[in-house]
Amino acid sequence: MSDSRTPVRRRHRVAVLGATGAVGQAFIRLLADHPWFELTELAASERSAGKRYADAAHWIGAGDMPSGVRDMVVQPCDPSKVSADIVFSALDSTAAADAEPAFARAGKLVLTNAKNYRMERDVPLVIAEVNPSHLKVLEAQRKNRGWTGGIIANGNCASIVAALPLAPIHERFGISKLVAVTMQAVSGAGYPGVASLDILGNVIPLIRDEEPKIETEIQKFLGTQDGSTISSATFPVSAHANRVAVEHGHTVCMSLALEEKADAKDVERAIADWRGASEAHGLPTAPERAIVVADEPDQPQPRRQVDTGNGMTIVVGRVRPDPVFDVKLVAMGHNVVRGAAGASVLNAELMKRCGYLTEP
Ligand code: NAP
Repeated sequence: MSDSRTPVRRRHRVAVLGATGAVGQAFIRLLADHPWFELTELAASERSAGKRYADAAHWIGAGDMPSGVRDMVVQPCDPSKVSADIVFSALDSTAAADAEPAFARAGKLVLTNAKNYRMERDVPLVIAEVNPSHLKVLEAQRKNRGWTGGIIANGNCASIVAALPLAPIHERFGISKLVAVTMQAVSGAGYPGVASLDILGNVIPLIRDEEPKIETEIQKFLGTQDGSTISSATFPVSAHANRVAVEHGHTVCMSLALEEKADAKDVERAIADWRGASEAHGLPTAPERAIVVADEPDQPQPRRQVDTGNGMTIVVGRVRPDPVFDVKLVAMGHNVVRGAAGASVLNAELMKRCGYLTEP
């Protein structure tokens, strides 16, 4: 309860682009009662613009559509129609290609889930607990591109699930080689996504363009920054990406070779003890633990553990010796939350804590 002596903290006004899609809906849910951000605008394609949100969106999010957005009128993705300075983008990559730089040019901070800018060397590709210092390249990005705003990217959903447990291993032992095999949920393809008759009772061993994203983004997350540019880690990565009949939760099986030899128990301990960068501790969307090691030998399982830490915790299991490499393990996380909307909201919170947002 506030009384007349308690200052009312103003929240940052934020908008969601691509608000009608799978990731857009997760943003709406995560921002519904956010202590630092107030969701004031929603935008999507010309098909949805001008409609009430409840009429434009086919709600597939967990629970009911938050009442506060039902009557909001969907805007076009045009910076002159959106007044918020912080913009979460859940745009499809074709739409993001023109819209996101236009918003950045117009002075907005764009926290994007689209693939377009992730691998640019002056664009931070950030997991709050792993590489918060990569935000420093934002200043160089503004200089290079003449933008007053900027683009801060999220990884691909499978790359984020893989990179979180790899971070403590790389920090402690150094990774020299990695093979990653994914089993990716249908919600990773958005809505309506993969036709049910293609995926029910099936595994599809191709997700178009996914493997190069996983291979390069993991290297960038675990790379270094020198203030103006990011240099990716150089260990080779080979990825296989599969779509499986799971609703939410990407599972990634990984085999890795280490620079400093260690046994599986040491690796498991390094993962279990890791708390991630202090900058992320205690942020509103940060889970108590970014990674947990599963209690049971047949875990992680998406149906049982996908909502661990409100969908923000990666569950790791089966850390064991690998007869070809050194160690192998399984990681699983919520693709729409930790792999997309939740990761972006956490990055925005990180930016506020690290002084990148002007006070509202
Ligand atoms: P989605 O369900 O297909 O939603 C796409 C959104 O983009 C919709 O709001 C759609 O609006 C909007 N859009 C499409 N064409 C547009 C245009 N020409 N102009 C403006 N808006 C347009 O896709 P999604 O799964 O939410 O994915 C969104 C983004 O996040 C993609 O870039 C995807 O690669 C990335 N991503 C997704 C996941 C995941 O787990 N799903 C994880 C990580 C990253 P209308 O409804 O008006 O058409």
